[in-house]
Amino acid sequence: MKFSNILAPEGLKKQLINSVKNNRLAHSQMFLGEKSSPKLLLALAYAQFISCQHKSSDDSCGSCQSCVKYQKLTHPDLHLIFPVLPLNKSSSSNVSDNFVKEWRECVLKNPFLDLDVWFDVFSSENRKGKTGYIYAQESDNLRKKLSLKHYESQLRVVLIWLPEKMQVKTSNKLLKLLEEPPQKTIFLLVSENTDLILNTILSRLQITKVHNYNPSEIEALLRDKFPMKHISEIKATISLTEGNLGGAIKILHNESFEDRHFEEYQNWMRLCYSVNIEEITKWVDIRSKKGRRSQTIFLKYALKMTRNCLVFHFSETKNLFVTQKEIDFLTKFHPFIHQDNITEISEKLEECIKNIERNANSKIMFYELSLQLMKLLKVKRKFVEIN
Ligand SMILES: [Zn+2]
Repeated sequence: MKFSNILAPEGLKKQLINSVKNNRLAHSQMFLGEKSSPKLLLALAYAQFISCQHKSSDDSCGSCQSCVKYQKLTHPDLHLIFPVLPLNKSSSSNVSDNFVKEWRECVLKNPFLDLDVWFDVFSSENRKGKTGYIYAQESDNLRKKLSLKHYESQLRVVLIWLPEKMQVKTSNKLLKLLEEPPQKTIFLLVSENTDLILNTILSRLQITKVHNYNPSEIEALLRDKFPMKHISEIKATISLTEGNLGGAIKILHNESFEDRHFEEYQNWMRLCYSVNIEEITKWVDIRSKKGRRSQTIFLKYALKMTRNCLVFHFSETKNLFVTQKEIDFLTKFHPFIHQDNITEISEKLEECIKNIERNANSKIMFYELSLQLMKLLKVKRKFVEIN
């Protein structure tokens, strides 16, 4: 990644570039920023610039051997460390090296990824009830690697994505490495939140704060990345993900997202209204096997459609972010959601979104939710009589 391809303040880029040009490279650094900020991109551009063989005064060349490898994240002197989910009990297998191919692909596709986007790579079976960490084994592995010779560059880079997910043992071992840094090695930590990082580690880092994008920058970035998508779809995705850029990119990569969710929602509502228990059981079975993120997005979509029903009752619909298919469905469906059941329906959906975050049993949850909806959709609207 070249600096020129990143939307970030020029002053910040200059500061990073100058530290390399003036030979004032701190060996332990942190790029700190919220979820949707370009912290990972800047750290990668910085590492690429350091190692570029034909750098200009303000950027890497993008075409030398080193840049080509950096752009694919495959440079042998770039060591990547990130949280993983344990696949089996053997601690030696729970290290980044075993997942590096998947992580590279995920980052190249979505450099604003967060932990949820990354863990979606793992199967739902592997995600079940697990949090994921940078395990202690990782620091032993790294120590071994750093005792070997450099491959191609003068400097090697250890990039640690989300160091806040280090286990205590990992942190203590990393601290030792930072206290006695191996020669010609730079540590770049890319973090969302320093609260869980040892103060003794933080005090050894030079911290670069990276600001989050504002809503219009997020929209511009997404329009640039997805020129084929209609602006209404981009805006709807931003609102659905509440401005989480990584989440929005993931959804937009998924071609017919709105359609898929629309059809599933339409079908679910029909089953609930017709109290078709047999089909609902089958639907719950399929729905609960999809990943946590997919479940949250689907429920948020259902919440959005529920609120849209109310808009259909009371106000102009032309400003809604909806597709023609959704309008056709809402025109017929909106009378079933009204002032006497909307609060309860919305609350149930919101409660389920929270429960998913708490790792609730999704099969039971979707089943109960469907039963509640069957009941609530039958609530008749009370008309207020005016004389
Ligand atoms: Zn280069």
